[in-house]
Order: sequence, then C-alpha cells, then structure tokens
Amino acid sequence: MPATAPRPESWIRTTPSGLYCEPGDFHVDPVQPVARAVITHGHSDHARPGHERVLATQETIAIMRHRYGEDAGRSLQAARYGEEVRVGEVSVRLLPAGHILGSAQAVIDYRGSRVVVSGDYKRRPDPTCAGFEVQSCDLFITEATFGLPVFRHPPDSHEIEKLLHSVRLYPERCHLVGVYALGKCQRLIALLREAGYDEPIYLHGALIGLTELYQSFGIALGPLLPCTGLTQEAFRGRIVLAPPAALADRWTRRLPDPVTALASGWMRVKQRAKARGIELPLVISDHADWDELTRTLDEVGAAEIWVTHGREEALVHYGTSRGLKARALALSGFGEEEE
Ligand SMILES: [Zn+2]
Ligand SMILES: [Zn+2]
Repeated sequence: MPATAPRPESWIRTTPSGLYCEPGDFHVDPVQPVARAVITHGHSDHARPGHERVLATQETIAIMRHRYGEDAGRSLQAARYGEEVRVGEVSVRLLPAGHILGSAQAVIDYRGSRVVVSGDYKRRPDPTCAGFEVQSCDLFITEATFGLPVFRHPPDSHEIEKLLHSVRLYPERCHLVGVYALGKCQRLIALLREAGYDEPIYLHGALIGLTELYQSFGIALGPLLPCTGLTQEAFRGRIVLAPPAALADRWTRRLPDPVTALASGWMRVKQRAKARGIELPLVISDHADWDELTRTLDEVGAAEIWVTHGREEALVHYGTSRGLKARALALSGFGEEEE
C-alpha cells in the first residue's frame, strides 16, 4: 500500500446491516435490505432478498432469482470473474472463492488501498465451481466457520470411498445422504462421478431445482432421478440424497432400511453425528478447514485481517502471532447454511 493510500478502516466498516464500503456506498452480504449490495454467493445467510441494486456473478444472480423471484432485487448486475466494475469511487472485482457455483471474493480497490472480502471459501478442488484465487491485499476479511486447529477435513476422496464401501457392503439397504440443497448436493454427486460411480442417483424433490440450475451452467452430474412413484424394492442398493431436515421425515419410510449419512464439515464432531442419529458421518465441507484458513492468511500477505463469523478467536490469535493486526467482527446473521 503506498504511503499516501487511505487506511482500510477509514473506508470500510461494520454497520447493523453488515460490512459497509463508504466511498462505494454499498454493503457486502448485508443482512437487511439495502440500497446497494455486493453479494458473494447464493447461500441464504449471504444472499438475502429485498435489496434495491445487486452486484454479483451471473450464477449467484441466477440462484437468487430461482429462490426469491421478483424479490431478488430491483436491479441485478452480473459481473464476470475478474471484471472491473466501478462503484462510486471504488473499483470492485469478483474473484472465485471455491465455495459453491458462482461464489466470489469481493476485491475492492480505493486510492491504492485494497480490501478483499472472502465470503465463504475453501481451497481444495471442487468439480462444481471455479477454484479460489489468491489476491494480495492490505486487509483480508475472512470467514472462520472451522477456525479451530481441531478442524482438519480429510480428503474428499476418502469420505466418498467410505460411502461407496458401505453401498457395496449393504446391497439390500438404501443409503440416504443428507446434503444442503445448494452446493453440497451437486458437489457430492460430482465427487461420486469422479470416483467412477455411474448408477442413477435419486433426489428428494427439494434438491431438484438447484441441481437443474447447476446443470444449466454446464456442470455434468450424470443420471439423476426423482424419488417419486417408486416402490421400496427400487431403492435397494441405491443412493438417495435429501436435505438434512428431511432425514427423519415420514418421507423416509418408503426407503428400505436406510443407512443414514450426512455430508458436512460438522461431522468431524462425533457428538453432532450421534445426536442426529447419523450412522455414516461424511466429513465433506464447503468451508476452509484450519490449515486452509491459515495458509490463505499467509498467502494473501495482508498486514491486517478481520474475521467475520465462525470460530474467530483462534484465527485472530494466529494472525496476531504472525505480527498482523487482527480483529474479530462477530457479525451476526451468518452461520451454517440453510439449517
Ligand atoms: Zn456459504
Ligand atoms: Zn456463510
């Protein structure tokens, strides 16, 4: 940052609506309706309805339209990854965050001073979205959903193999896997395909719309079938995906002796899996684990970090120990997606 550049805290700050960029006069992922919003991705805690003007990737806008219809925003402006958009006195670029389809970091430049708002992100490859791009900056504003050293996610292939092993072991049972409707569902399907599983995968009705949206953006997911109108017999040896909230529904009675699984970073916490009656926990997360978070802080090279939400303290401590200025924002309104 040139010596004459303004310090980031003089032009970006938190308000009750969320992060606010003063010279651009916009909020990033505001939790209340605002005049102008930059939206990092389509999860409902980041992309809320009712803003006047929205700037986001084309995919995020499609997701918001799908979910909110007219309420997605009065004017919706799509930016390609890397495209520079002038907003007030600042320039905004959206760069891939590797979290879900269309997810972006917001890179904001103002008079030689650069702030990056990460949104939610992960660093490991995901066949359903563009990979995280490191952007050097003066202030990095990061999530910390899994910001504790105990959170180390295993390789995805390891978790997928656990599922496929169980499917081979119990050919007479059905495998019912809980997945969030946006992101996790499509990623789990794509990971199964990468592992060579080419059987039809059955989808709960609540997962179909967003899965079709992914396909409309060219994400190949192989043969998928709805669960409707099938006998118990038809589900033997099959994999059925459903939203986590539907795992204990009456709906599951149509399935033959299901092995209940759940794909979530939280499955690393054994008590959580147990409390929810999950027989087969799959640690598959769309958020950076501790190693990914700390590696990212090292790579972006910011002198200052702010931590928006999640387990903030340990990451703040890590930053401080590295000689950075670090601060927990404790933004409210963010958390586990769609739960
Ligand atoms: Zn998210
Ligand atoms: Zn989030």
